[in-house]
Amino acid sequence: MILYGNEVAKAIDEKSMTLAKRNKPVLAIVRVGNKPSDLSYERGLMKRCEKIGVEVRNVIMDEKVSKEQFYSKLDSLNQDTDIHGILMFRPLPVYLDNEKARNYISSSKDVDGCTNESLAGVFTNTPVGYAPCTAQAVMECLDHYDIDVTSKNVVIVGRSLVAGKPLSMMMCSKNATVTLCHTKTKDLKEITKKAEIVVVATGQMESMDDTYFSKGQTVIDVGINYNEIKQKLCGDILYEKVEPVVDNITPVPKGIGSITNSILVYHVCQAANQN
Ligand code: NDP
Repeated sequence: MILYGNEVAKAIDEKSMTLAKRNKPVLAIVRVGNKPSDLSYERGLMKRCEKIGVEVRNVIMDEKVSKEQFYSKLDSLNQDTDIHGILMFRPLPVYLDNEKARNYISSSKDVDGCTNESLAGVFTNTPVGYAPCTAQAVMECLDHYDIDVTSKNVVIVGRSLVAGKPLSMMMCSKNATVTLCHTKTKDLKEITKKAEIVVVATGQMESMDDTYFSKGQTVIDVGINYNEIKQKLCGDILYEKVEPVVDNITPVPKGIGSITNSILVYHVCQAANQN
């Protein structure tokens, strides 16, 4: 089975639309500078917000914005009761202090699940703010296609705070047995081949081929990379080699990336509903 993300996203969008009709959700998108990847993500997100009925306030700052101006803007967004969710593009220019900025957003408005408070909620399995959208997108995808993780051996490759680490905790809360791998993991192939579910979030384009996988597995590719040679988006696994081997697999594009945006918008609608 090919696990298409757009079908999952559609189901989430329907829930968001119902919530958005009840309230008037407002998302602030904070962008410093004009990075092409930020601009392209922003365009996609704004389209989705328009479709769902979520208002967007674009907060755009110059790359040379002072620390004082930047944090005072975040203060005003945190305090503005008309704004329900804040998405801040990262990484920010280094002088703005990425760690401080990540934790500066009120957890009630942290719809991207980036603050330590939101992450603590994921790690303790108690609802504080919202989970990181990418990790949640993986869980929603498995749930949508009735792939139960209970008692399954799940291997996650990649331990970032946006994907692998929170996902390992979410899987654990759903009673999976989780192995979290990274660049210092020995014999990665032997570990991934024995898993029932493998999630790959390494940021290394098409770096895992069929020799990492085995029959009967479910493979989730979180990666989004632009392949200059093929002139298309590719995942972190080599799809054409892996797809014939395994039972279930997410494509790239039209996989996890399609769900992530929908989750973010859903979080904004939930935040508006809390008021
Ligand atoms: P990071 O670079 O922050 O983290 C990558 C992780 O993978 C690190 O933990 C690193 O290990 C590990 N890793 C890298 N190479 C290897 C390797 N050869 N073997 C084992 N582990 C390895 O990346 P992100 O988590 O931010 O992103 C991962 C991918 O997901 C990217 O392709 C990105 O584009 C995509 N992405 C997709 C999203 C979506 O919505 N679908 C959203 C966000 C990201 P170590 O810790 O040891 O360095």
